[in-house]
Amino acid sequence: MIDVCNIQVMKPLLAEHGFHFSKAKGQNFLISRWVPEQIAEDAGVDSTAGVLEIGPGIGPLTQQLCLRAGKVCAVELDLRLKPILAMTVGEFSNLEILWDDVLKQDVAALVKEKFAGLRPMACANLPYYITSPILTALLEAECFDSVTVMVQKEVAQRIAAKPGTADYSAFTVFCQYYAEPEILFDVPAGCFMPQPKVTSAVISLHCRKEKPWQIDDVDIFFRTVKASFAMRRKKLSNGLASGFPELGKDGAAAVIEAAGFDANVRGETLGIAEFARIANEIARRKRHD
Ligand code: SAM
Repeated sequence: MIDVCNIQVMKPLLAEHGFHFSKAKGQNFLISRWVPEQIAEDAGVDSTAGVLEIGPGIGPLTQQLCLRAGKVCAVELDLRLKPILAMTVGEFSNLEILWDDVLKQDVAALVKEKFAGLRPMACANLPYYITSPILTALLEAECFDSVTVMVQKEVAQRIAAKPGTADYSAFTVFCQYYAEPEILFDVPAGCFMPQPKVTSAVISLHCRKEKPWQIDDVDIFFRTVKASFAMRRKKLSNGLASGFPELGKDGAAAVIEAAGFDANVRGETLGIAEFARIANEIARRKRHD
């Protein structure tokens, strides 16, 4: 197996194919072998797993996934990588590469088609310019056991944040609605070529089989969350009144009271169960309007 993380191997390989890194495609390739090994190991990839990889690049993580998984399906946008991947991962019979934009995929349908009888997982060193849309698509597909990805460290902290902290955001609530996050380890910028400007971290999102909250209307729940974070450090009633103009200021205040909260409560201090109480109260009022 070609050691693609070895810079003495990687540089001539890239030069041979006239390959230049594309910043626009988020190309920061791993040059420290322990990183893809640890990602595949910590993600719990084994022969029962069907792994969707996003952005194989020249294949350091792909190799580690193929060594362990029942099947790997990798989606890569950059066709210039085709001859290089043929050399670095061509030997694996349990690998299929789709040359396309991951954001154009119907993820749930893809997983169903490619991983019948296997435990579906997603694993990737993500292109950072589209971290949020990719994570959104992976989580909303609701078809994975887990999603283990390398992201910017600050994004990992945002995903795993607790209510009332500066990192807590609508994206935190979105991710934690679908999954339980676990930050696994940091990856310094020196582990990549070219080096990114930020430290990275690997995070595992353990997807929830059952949601432990009673949420009557998921659309209203996410509208509530968005409205609650739109005016940080202001009273929740202001955010709700602007996110749900149909409630009006008095209606927003009444919702908060009926859901059992203090009139001065601030949205960014609430957990998912509390957002659910407010959203359910809004949904109840809408049903009776
Ligand atoms: N997995 C490799 C590694 O760890 O060295 C490469 C990771 S690099 C951070 C991100 C990869 O995602 C690149 O290979 C890039 O071409 C690919 N990529 C960027 N945008 C993409 C998209 N929309 N769909 C699929 N792949 C994409």
